[in-house]
Amino acid sequence: MSIVINSVSKAFGTFQALEKINLEIHTGELVALLGPSGSGKTSLLRVIAGLEAADKGSIFFDSENITGINAKERKVGFVFQHYALFRHMTVFDNVAYGLKVRPRKERPGKKEIEIKVHELLELVKLKDLANRYPAQLSGGQRQRVALARALAVEPKVLLLDEPFGALDAKVRKELRRWLRRLHDEFQISSIFVTHDQEEALDVADKIVVMNQGKIEQIGTPEEVYDNPQTPFVYDFLGSVNLFRGRLKNGKLNQGDVALEIPDWEGLDNLEAVGYARPHDISISREGSNDDAVLATISHLHIVGPIVQIELIRKDTNDYLEAEIPKEKYRRLGLNAGEEVFIKPKQLKIFTPEDLSFNLFKEGSMYNGKNHA
Ligand code: ATP
Repeated sequence: MSIVINSVSKAFGTFQALEKINLEIHTGELVALLGPSGSGKTSLLRVIAGLEAADKGSIFFDSENITGINAKERKVGFVFQHYALFRHMTVFDNVAYGLKVRPRKERPGKKEIEIKVHELLELVKLKDLANRYPAQLSGGQRQRVALARALAVEPKVLLLDEPFGALDAKVRKELRRWLRRLHDEFQISSIFVTHDQEEALDVADKIVVMNQGKIEQIGTPEEVYDNPQTPFVYDFLGSVNLFRGRLKNGKLNQGDVALEIPDWEGLDNLEAVGYARPHDISISREGSNDDAVLATISHLHIVGPIVQIELIRKDTNDYLEAEIPKEKYRRLGLNAGEEVFIKPKQLKIFTPEDLSFNLFKEGSMYNGKNHA
């Protein structure tokens, strides 16, 4: 089922939680609503579910306008962060619940319910635990029961609110795979809320990045990560190094340094901030102050195939972060305390039109700091 959200707004008192949200979700897509705390993700999910009414705008499921239809009739499956399983019911009864409470005419027979619940428990590999109570399960197992329970009623739309938020990193990862598998198997449209960028990048077909009740960008994981349209998205979706300066002759000038900007065909003679991911920073022992930044290595994280290098710029004292393959690190023989030249291989330029004025102020939180 496709979902179309048309200019939806929602306020709580004087606080505008959602502002003119436009979003289209195609049938069978797994979409992540990603953003910081308070950005409106849960509010949007609740409006789609019908648990909250929009003040303005409309919502369509396929071609049906469901804006005024109540939550029950929208037939969506819901999974919450806190398992919300019935404590006094076994795993089997929890999954069967949605089927048993259907109006008599739609309710499947006892045998049919049994077959269906066993199929679902088989799917989430919990068949052997059918007679256990929620308290006798691990957090990951409980969330798998919650997924099976939501799917039992064959929803066309599955909505998940931070479904794995309460679990540890390893279990979260495992459950992501489950979600992807179940989503594909049931061919439903799923929307899940998360503030975890890695989770969204890993599992979603499409990511909707939200900030202060608005959508900043919609795109595939590759699009939003590799081609962020706003400084907020750049910053929210991973570590980033900032280079402040003035655009001149296709270069970003700061003090004596003039950094190359590959493919820059934009405006000249303007204040700007260049953004570069740590893996787009090159490090060398040889270089010149003219076109590279001199920095001191303050820390090396050598675990794993990629070495993370923390540096402090000599001229500005800004913090920088680089990532290089371990092989290259060995070849260079880098040590903490050493001075090296660094150059961004890619610089995404944002000009004052894109940036709030504060970004240019000394000491602003964006001032060359990595805060992903
Ligand atoms: P989190 O990741 O912390 O759950 P979120 O992005 O899901 O955040 P929402 O829960 O949608 O954010 O909340 C958006 C804003 O709306 C917040 O500032 C919140 O305080 C406010 N808000 C949400 N629900 C209500 C409510 N029922 N009454 C008043 N304000 C609300």
